[in-house]
Amino acid sequence: MGAYLDNDIKFLSGVGEKRAALLKKELGISTMRDLLYYFPFRYIDRSRIYKIAEITSESPAYIQLRVRVEGFSQHGEGRRKRLVAYASDGTGTAELVWFSGIKWIEKRLEAGREYIVFGRPGFFNNELSIVHPELESVGNARPRPAGGMQGVYSTTETLSSNQLGSRGIYNLVCNLWDIAGSRIVETLPERLMQRNGLIGLQEALHNIHFPQNAEKLRQAEYRLKFEELFGIQLGILAQRSGRVSKENGFMFNRVGDKFNEFYSGHLPFELTGAQKRVIKEIRGDTITGHQMNRLLQGDVGSGKTLVALMSMLLAIDNGFQACMMAPTEILARQHYATIVKLLGDMDVKVGIITGTTKKRERDEILASLTDGSLDILLGTHALIEDRVQFANLGFVVIDEQHRFGVEQRARLWTKNNQPPHVLVMTATPIPRTLAMTLYGDLDVSVIDELPPGRKPIKTYHVRDSQRLRVFGFMAEQIAAGRQVYVVYPLISGSEKMDYKDLEDGFESISRQFPLPQYNTVVVHGRLKAAQKEENMNLFKEGKAHIMVATSVIEVGVDVPNASVMVIESAERFGLSQLHQLRGRVGRGADQAYCILMSGDKLSKEGKARLQAMVATNDGFELSELDLKLRGAGDISGTQQSGLAFELKIANLGRDSQIVEAARAAAQDAIDNADGFTAGDKALLEAVRERFSYSKEQDFSMIS
Ligand code: ADP
Ligand code: MG
Repeated sequence: MGAYLDNDIKFLSGVGEKRAALLKKELGISTMRDLLYYFPFRYIDRSRIYKIAEITSESPAYIQLRVRVEGFSQHGEGRRKRLVAYASDGTGTAELVWFSGIKWIEKRLEAGREYIVFGRPGFFNNELSIVHPELESVGNARPRPAGGMQGVYSTTETLSSNQLGSRGIYNLVCNLWDIAGSRIVETLPERLMQRNGLIGLQEALHNIHFPQNAEKLRQAEYRLKFEELFGIQLGILAQRSGRVSKENGFMFNRVGDKFNEFYSGHLPFELTGAQKRVIKEIRGDTITGHQMNRLLQGDVGSGKTLVALMSMLLAIDNGFQACMMAPTEILARQHYATIVKLLGDMDVKVGIITGTTKKRERDEILASLTDGSLDILLGTHALIEDRVQFANLGFVVIDEQHRFGVEQRARLWTKNNQPPHVLVMTATPIPRTLAMTLYGDLDVSVIDELPPGRKPIKTYHVRDSQRLRVFGFMAEQIAAGRQVYVVYPLISGSEKMDYKDLEDGFESISRQFPLPQYNTVVVHGRLKAAQKEENMNLFKEGKAHIMVATSVIEVGVDVPNASVMVIESAERFGLSQLHQLRGRVGRGADQAYCILMSGDKLSKEGKARLQAMVATNDGFELSELDLKLRGAGDISGTQQSGLAFELKIANLGRDSQIVEAARAAAQDAIDNADGFTAGDKALLEAVRERFSYSKEQDFSMIS
């Protein structure tokens, strides 16, 4: 059976060479198994046909009609070109509209003929319309599936024009099921299925493609999602027990001079309770003899840098060097300035390496690294280049870790024979279940407390038409001695998109806020590094009132006197980015404001994002919501998270309960391995293998 599913899809009846090539190119389906695991993304309730007259704005999102097409015609020119078919069913009329694939649809439409139409109803001038409906002529309709629910498969225009629309794919799955359905072999141990209330694989696959009823479909989805998540968790937990069982961590058993000197003489403020707790946790980790792997989550402005610095001092006190990597040059330089200032006259040698460091300076730093005289090295990803060699690297900090790929992170571990302790920090809070999956092998610390005296930032959503009021407010704040950021999604205008851009914006702001009374500086990715730095410094020193920038300032910029963050075309940014940008203000004790500008027309999701920003300052709440709105695949950084495969059905955001159940089951399988037969163990090993992060890892946990 396994062997049959490995066969090339071209051998399936109804496919052949040409369509096989298309399926591979468009959907990545190249074997029978790929098709079997190509699941519908939605189900049509084919048991119900609506009447046009009964459709209202309260009707379900998708509906099915049986209509006669009275006629059709093309309208508009160029990109506005559309095909409109006029349909009726005796109770009323509706318009069916297509903006693309017009030629293909036109060939298939016939005036006077009856069609089953499926799509999303909308109202335009009180007229019911359905944009890009699915269409099937009544004569051609295939037999309805038993439960009345029919799978809809996502497809592409190219495939559709080769008879492989959703319908076509459905037919292929039918053909495949005829041959392979009865021979599907179970992939999970019986005992595991029983304990977790899972239905068998064959039943699950059958119901995912041809649901018998809603309950069976739910069970099918649960079983298939569970299997994916269980496989991942098995791998993670195995990896973890592998790491913890090795006694190869550096011992930091001294809290020495540097740490104490800093703590008693240089700390500019009381540590928050959360900072103290996290430092304790790190200290606890570094005296176990195991290598530390810790994720530190803390909202923007919660004071992670200080925690990083004090941990690095611990390393230095124990005879090790430390380094800290940041994703942007701006942030790396900011860290350098902050840390040098905090250390003051202490005898700790700090250096920085970035992509723009001059050769002479770099050579000096590299030499002091290898002779051991440099204590702390800061920098960008330039740190991971091979020529950067440490005498004795014991502690690594990665700031804003979601900006780095797995490989970049991993290369820092190898800078010493024995792996250094690793602290990765992020201000983009990752919801618990996602962290459990993506960083399952990390221990997690959370700074859940902001430094005292911070006032919550006030956030407003303002339409472009109210711009003058925003300018007025900026002028007030500047008059009160404060500074303002204005952030744009684009540097220069784009024909395709109707978003504000920085060049235009800079012009209008300079007009509104003219020299010499006001000084406006610009920072964006296309500026030369020296220019960027000069402008940053002008703003930092309070010599510029307004900073016009792109989202390059999203991370790390720390100017406590700035009190207003204006974000132009805010609908264009993702939630976590908006939250990060907002975090650039409110870093001092004064009231700060975030103003989200948008056009009048907003998508539903765009609106939801802006509303969420107005409603809460809590990064964790926002990230949960972000996950729901976008699904885990889109969350920035998860692409690089290390999931080497694509989840076919589970969604790390929405299926958090299944993640928890799968994790518990995986832990149970490891703890109670004795209860499984040899055959079961082979199955478990295979599941883990299928969903493992990387093939190199060798964990013989199911032994
Ligand atoms: P993030 O967690 O976003 O990296 P930072 O480390 O940049 O935050 O800290 C934000 C600001 O809060 C900085 O200006 C820092 O000096 C200040 N800060 C950090 N810890 C404290 C504290 N315990 N009390 C008061 N201010 C603090
Ligand atoms: Mg930071």
